[in-house]
Amino acid sequence: MKIIGLIGGMSWESTVTYYQQINRLTATQLGGLHSAKLLLYSVDFEEIEACQTSGDWKKSAQILAQAAQSLERAGAELILICTNTMHKVAPQVQASVSIPLLHIADATADALEEAHISTVALLGTKYTMCETFYTNKLIQRGIQVLIPDKADAELVNRVIFQELCLGQHKDSSKAEFLRIINALGAQGAQGVILGCTEIGLLISQSDTALPIFDTTLIHAERAVRIALQ
Ligand code: GLU
Repeated sequence: MKIIGLIGGMSWESTVTYYQQINRLTATQLGGLHSAKLLLYSVDFEEIEACQTSGDWKKSAQILAQAAQSLERAGAELILICTNTMHKVAPQVQASVSIPLLHIADATADALEEAHISTVALLGTKYTMCETFYTNKLIQRGIQVLIPDKADAELVNRVIFQELCLGQHKDSSKAEFLRIINALGAQGAQGVILGCTEIGLLISQSDTALPIFDTTLIHAERAVRIALQ
């Protein structure tokens, strides 16, 4: 079993899901009392969010690269950045270590391909939805990406930072997310990427007929697959 290194805390609400899911899947695969060998470096999300807001991606890349190096020194054999947004600095983090980084958008593109999805809706932070570092990974694999209109993108972004990352799960926000998902489905989306690691704490497959691709669960599943190879 390989040792999985998690860079978490962005937010810690979803890092909990990573920890649970990686252990559950390991137990399912190996049976008995088996659990995952993993290391967690949990950052202070206030510092990371301040870098996002000020546009200081260089500083946030340094913080995450230091975390990755600490994990490598401690024995990690692969690295996961437990947030979609911070994959904006994934190239710098990967360059700072000699162990592989499992990119969340690559894992998600694999899952979409396996499900034969060619047009997909994407919900996430404004960085993930509106910039190219994430969507290009999907487009390069021949997957068309639909995002909410400007007002709805702002709503999704606000709910992520002001509610979900603080552990708040409001029925009113859930209804808005489902309205947005339905609208993107009507535009031709064959599935929806929960492209923020906290959205799965608000929306699950039983809430919508559109197939859901929860990046937290997909990322955790791929990590376990690699760790147990
Ligand atoms: N966890 C979220 C994501 O997956 C948002 C927090 C962040 O900005 O890193 O993008």
